[in-house]
Amino acid sequence: MIQSVNPATGKPLSTYDSHSAEEVDAALAAAVAAQAQWREKPLAERVELLRELAAVLRAGKAEYARLITEEMGKPLAEAEAEIEKCALNCVHYAEHAAEYLAERPVLAEASVVAEPLGVVLAVMPWNYPFWQFFRFAAPALAAGNGAILKHATNVPGCALAIEDVFRKASAPAGLVRALLVDVGEVAKLIADDRIAAVTLTGSTRVGALVASQAGAALKKQVLELGGSDPFVVLADADVPAAAETAVRARFLNNGQSCVNAKRFIVDEAVADEFAEAFTAAVERLRVGDPAEAGTTVGPLAREDLRDGLDEQVRRTVAAGGVLRTGGEPVAGPGYFYAPTVLDRVKPGMAAFDEETFGPVAAIVRVSGDDEALALANDTEFGLGAAVWTRSSERAQRFAKGLQAGAVFVNSMVASDPRLPFGGIKKSGYGRELGADGIREFVNVKTVWFG
Ligand code: NAP
Repeated sequence: MIQSVNPATGKPLSTYDSHSAEEVDAALAAAVAAQAQWREKPLAERVELLRELAAVLRAGKAEYARLITEEMGKPLAEAEAEIEKCALNCVHYAEHAAEYLAERPVLAEASVVAEPLGVVLAVMPWNYPFWQFFRFAAPALAAGNGAILKHATNVPGCALAIEDVFRKASAPAGLVRALLVDVGEVAKLIADDRIAAVTLTGSTRVGALVASQAGAALKKQVLELGGSDPFVVLADADVPAAAETAVRARFLNNGQSCVNAKRFIVDEAVADEFAEAFTAAVERLRVGDPAEAGTTVGPLAREDLRDGLDEQVRRTVAAGGVLRTGGEPVAGPGYFYAPTVLDRVKPGMAAFDEETFGPVAAIVRVSGDDEALALANDTEFGLGAAVWTRSSERAQRFAKGLQAGAVFVNSMVASDPRLPFGGIKKSGYGRELGADGIREFVNVKTVWFG
């Protein structure tokens, strides 16, 4: 039995029956059978499903967005934008899958073709409950794969709604299934011969565990894990613009995105100006009921996540970090945390060394570009990074020197269906989106005609 809870009130929402061992077995058998037929369909027919998925998502946007907001607490407008992005991703792959998967002639006698791997297990997090799955599923299905979704336990309604989107879009029965199972079942799924590959979006801790299980079974994996993205503001930056963008970069999604900027690495020459403008803008954020128009920051998704974040803030302050605003849970029902700015954060402090998954920003003051680059890279993570400067030479130096899967200049990090997305170091490996994303779950097959 799974119980969902509204994080804005702390009150129960709905209960769901977990799938039994027999139901899991039947779902795997059905997925394999459906995928065997799906892979034989012409690509044009497969991408037609993506167009139908986009239409179903758009038609149901209000309903799906409400479900997201109820289960994990992001502001309703952001939940609607998430559904729209899922639709856009489906349309992107409908339009480009043929080009991305095209047979590549290499020699007069030989060419390379992309064939599906089979049924892919997707272990997904709650922070973008629809987007994380559609980001993987649209290209994977276009390539001819099937999918089994094991979603986070706090978004069971979203998991079942996603399955329903496929049903409404007339996907072949069984090709995409959501299984409500305990985390203890994931190892068995990974080991099952009917699962061909695994994709996980989640924490570094769980990523390492799932990678070891997939490795033991010699199954291909894509890991999209945590991040502690630097947002570097150099001495010649447009500071007001940087401060304004920094607020969105940190507090979007209630601060619970892997590519939220987390460490603001600011040259001492402009640090006071940045910190004052940034803090003033953070204090203008509207914390409250995420279902209400005008709310910009909702609750954290679970009580334990709020407790953990508060503990990180306390440890940072105890180690010498300076609290500029926030720094405590909001009194009353729900799992709200006051938008927080910590200043004078340094390596060795929790807000520098660890991923903070919530509305907490850490300002790190540096002297000059060399120290900025060194501290930006002084992290076990390597997902995204941003740099603000008016100099194209400095921008080039940071674009090359920042250790991350993506660098954004005078902008904030964001994913885009046209561009590959993923990390290095402990942020994981493999790529989603773009041409690279669709090639993760294919057999790149050489065919030689003698
Ligand atoms: P999480 O605790 O790692 O959970 C992710 C998924 O793994 C959930 O479905 C979870 O199920 C499952 N899981 C947990 N323990 C497991 C185990 N022992 N074996 C198998 N599966 C297990 O992560 P989260 O707290 O939901 O999400 C936040 C993290 O995800 C952050 O670190 C964030 O940076 C990262 N993230 C990364 C990206 C990216 O694209 N790189 C995007 C979004 C989020 P239960 O819910 O049942 O525990």
